[in-house]
Amino acid sequence: MLKINRERFEELFTLLDKQGRLYLPVAKDGKTDYAAWSAGSAVDLAATVTAKSPKGLFFPQIENLMEFTRTGNKLALEARPLPVEKTIAFGVRACDLASFKLLDKVFLKEPVDEYYAARRANCTLIGLACSEPEETCFCHAFGIDLAEGEADVRTYQVGDELFWEAATPKGEELTAAVSGLLTEEASGAAKVAKAKTAVREVFQKMPLAGLKLSAEKCKAPNEIFADKAWEELSKTCIGCGTCTYVCPTCHCYDVRDHDGGERVERYRCWDSCLFSDFTNMSGGNPRTGRLERFRQRYMHKLIYFPDNNEGDFACVGCGRCLQKCPVSLNIVKVARALGVTENV
Ligand code: SF4
Ligand code: SF4
Repeated sequence: MLKINRERFEELFTLLDKQGRLYLPVAKDGKTDYAAWSAGSAVDLAATVTAKSPKGLFFPQIENLMEFTRTGNKLALEARPLPVEKTIAFGVRACDLASFKLLDKVFLKEPVDEYYAARRANCTLIGLACSEPEETCFCHAFGIDLAEGEADVRTYQVGDELFWEAATPKGEELTAAVSGLLTEEASGAAKVAKAKTAVREVFQKMPLAGLKLSAEKCKAPNEIFADKAWEELSKTCIGCGTCTYVCPTCHCYDVRDHDGGERVERYRCWDSCLFSDFTNMSGGNPRTGRLERFRQRYMHKLIYFPDNNEGDFACVGCGRCLQKCPVSLNIVKVARALGVTENV
């Protein structure tokens, strides 16, 4: 198996950045998030879960779509060109890799979102197997293996060594481009196999190891919708939207105009079903209060999305909502209260 030692990571990042703009987890101001690499970046491959998910690589928080220029009573429209930059995302964990597959179901379905599609096509994904899962992780509940995500290149950290394995033609192309830095190690496969077994065993002892969502129990939408538990659950939600912003699978957005006088920019930005003006229409808002908004988020994740997407839940068990909600609400708490879990 191919490998590179930690002391040569900076050389690897330099070379990768020449193949495409390199994004990877970088520590800044006490938290770790995906950022464009530059020499001396505080790369943080120890963080199992970044504060925000990497969905912004394909679906940016704010994105200009077009501009209107006013000259007298004439209006000229200029669409923003599609993103063509080649990118590389390094260090993506199995849960976040799985979230891209769910976002694909939304953005690559007809009518295809061309901005998302272009970014996705131009990116080569380098996965990084987890070695220290967090107490809030429960990716296994969705059939995700923390020791092996679906990426173009799979990497595994074992001590100071990073093992490297191309998994797709795109990954092979990238591997060829950095092959000068990689060395072959005959015992690599055995070391990686041992590390995978070890982390899977650790995961078995984590607090949410027994959690499983029941597809069968989620097939009673009317009963779940009418469940009395929503009232108690939603009582403390302050509608801050944090859970949707950090979630790798939440994908709602708004389209707005910024009027700068002669130029108007039309942009889209992340939105949240927890915000009071979400789905506000000329006839009023169909979700009249906090309970309705709170229920919508979880009905979508547990019932509506699977209903429309071959049974796939809109969650990958990354645990970010468990870590970030200021009042300790999260999908695990909701699923348990609704009784749609098994083996807990
Ligand atoms: S609902 Fe929570 S645990 Fe599930 S993917 Fe979103 S942030 Fe992660
Ligand atoms: S993070 Fe918590 S309080 Fe904020 S909107 Fe989500 S559930 Fe409500």
